[in-house]
Amino acid sequence: MSSCHGDTPRSGLLPNPSIPLPKAAHERDIIVAIVGPPNAGKSTLFNRLTGLHQKVANFPGVTVEHRTGKAKLDGQHEVFLVDLPGIYSLTPRAEDEQVTHDVLKGERGDFPKPDAVILILDSTNLGRHLVLAAPILSLGLPTLILLNMADDLKVRGGKVDVSALAAELNCPVSLISAAKGTGLEGIKQFLVGTAVRLNAPPPKIELPVLQDIPKCRQWAQNIGSRASYRAPAPPLWTRRLDAVFLHPVAGPLVFLAVVVGVFQSIFSWAQPLMNGLQALVLASGQSVKHVLPDTPWRSLLIDGVWSGVGSVVVFLPQILLLFLFIGILEDSGYLARAALIADRTMAKFGLQGKSFIPLLSAYACAVPAVMATRVIENKRDRMATIMIAPLMTCSARLPVYTLIIAAFVPNTPVLGNLISLPAVTMLGLYVLGFAAAITIARLLKSTILKSRGSAFILELPPYRMPTLRSLSLRLVDRGKVFLHRAGTVILAVAIVLWILAHLPLQSGHAPQLEHSFAGMVGKFIEPVIKPLGFNWKIGIGLITSLAAREVIVGTLGTIYGIEGEESSQGLQQAIHHDLSAAGAVALLVFFAFAMQCFSTLAVVKRETGGWKWPAFQFSYMLGLAYAGSWIAFHITNHFLG
Ligand code: GDP
Repeated sequence: MSSCHGDTPRSGLLPNPSIPLPKAAHERDIIVAIVGPPNAGKSTLFNRLTGLHQKVANFPGVTVEHRTGKAKLDGQHEVFLVDLPGIYSLTPRAEDEQVTHDVLKGERGDFPKPDAVILILDSTNLGRHLVLAAPILSLGLPTLILLNMADDLKVRGGKVDVSALAAELNCPVSLISAAKGTGLEGIKQFLVGTAVRLNAPPPKIELPVLQDIPKCRQWAQNIGSRASYRAPAPPLWTRRLDAVFLHPVAGPLVFLAVVVGVFQSIFSWAQPLMNGLQALVLASGQSVKHVLPDTPWRSLLIDGVWSGVGSVVVFLPQILLLFLFIGILEDSGYLARAALIADRTMAKFGLQGKSFIPLLSAYACAVPAVMATRVIENKRDRMATIMIAPLMTCSARLPVYTLIIAAFVPNTPVLGNLISLPAVTMLGLYVLGFAAAITIARLLKSTILKSRGSAFILELPPYRMPTLRSLSLRLVDRGKVFLHRAGTVILAVAIVLWILAHLPLQSGHAPQLEHSFAGMVGKFIEPVIKPLGFNWKIGIGLITSLAAREVIVGTLGTIYGIEGEESSQGLQQAIHHDLSAAGAVALLVFFAFAMQCFSTLAVVKRETGGWKWPAFQFSYMLGLAYAGSWIAFHITNHFLG
């Protein structure tokens, strides 16, 4: 171990049995926190120091775990070690970072403030990891810095002057291998020294202002170069793969292939599973229906709850498949490369490369897309991506588009026989959504979500084989979140809609739709939607589809008194009677732009921590939908006479 206590380089840290422990330290156990970035080797070190004397516990109120254990130093001394969740900074962004932050600052009532800190960093990645030293040292606690993975550093030809680094940081520094168990002597010295000299304040050094991330990086770089740090070469096969994946021509091609593959697989692989689930939901609903007596309760259960919640649950395979792909891409290290490549393109629209994967997944569904924005570190970029994600054409729009296009667009060939007019219309709607999304992104990024450009510093991790454990943990986690929402928000909406369509009772019976509360709402909003070419029946569909876009299809089916698969022809004709061609175009545009998805709003609320952003999103998209439909209605009317 090297130390910077210039005059007494080591003696201050050596145990001196003749010095009694300070009184304060006698009164309770001495607690030393092990902190560091994820994967720096905290757990490996912790296991080595505590052996079997450890226990795992949750911090009350959060799902974050910590482990505590006793390290016996010699006959006289022992300290309690606590292994805290991995962090990149002390600016809390996620729950586990918050816990680490709070513990270190002594702000958790249920956990005592540590007396000292062991900061463990990956010596093969010091350029980035050293940044964490600034906030940790600023805590003012006795600190030992461990540079782990010494074995790897050496093999790959990296080096660092430990004494120089200790002098720069004014605290003891050791180069160790937690896995091999080398270089650990300094830890015991530090721990014993800590036990003995508990109240000695650490010597001060000049630290950067901690909120200023570029300054901290600069500081870390300077310290590193003064300690003659030479980063090791990346492993050979990482370099070989990067030569392809980051190649100016091959890179984007591989990227495109991956994107198309993922996009295609999410649709094609999920479809059979979704069909299966759909059949299961329908069949189970029908069999329950046959056992129950014909009461309003049965209708509420089957037509309201079963079909409402069921129609959402069938999306589970798609969600899981999407997160499986994201998991594989991220854990393998490819996502970081893809983001680097996409960055150049996305930057033109004021977005980060990391926005690409969430936006891609929004073609399936905006809900997982919003959750996937967690990979975007810049808060403003993440917010902009969340705000535009629902403009990408999600799969819930497909039934609506298909129904209206089939009812209004003649099946005439375009460009010879290359493509049909309905297909061109569908393609046009996809392009419309995308164009709106990037335009809005530009607007947001140049106004309320302005952030300093190109803060895109991405660590390129070595390629790794994704572990089954990590992937399945992700899927279980996502699946739980998704099903929980179906069982709460969606359930509530389904029940409320059913009730509104069956009240007020007229001589003990459910009223005609026109006179139900749902009908009244339709009539009430009719004056507002008339300029778009919609009547009150379409109005009810617009209201119910606020819950989920595809709900309008079922609602219109009910409105026209038509049920079942076979009668889709009838439904098309009924809509044709009720809607002009201009109204149909307006309706398509409305569905392209409007925020008709309660699940998305709920998940945006959860991810942004309040109703402000979802309210803004709902309003701007509704405004866009209204203006867009109005313009589309008038232009179409003009051309069609
Ligand atoms: P934590 O996330 O900080 O708790 O990190 P872990 O203790 O789980 O270690 C992360 C990975 O680094 C594991 O695969 C360890 O086996 C590995 N590891 C830990 N210490 C060393 C070391 O000294 N040398 C090498 N080569 N690998 C190590």
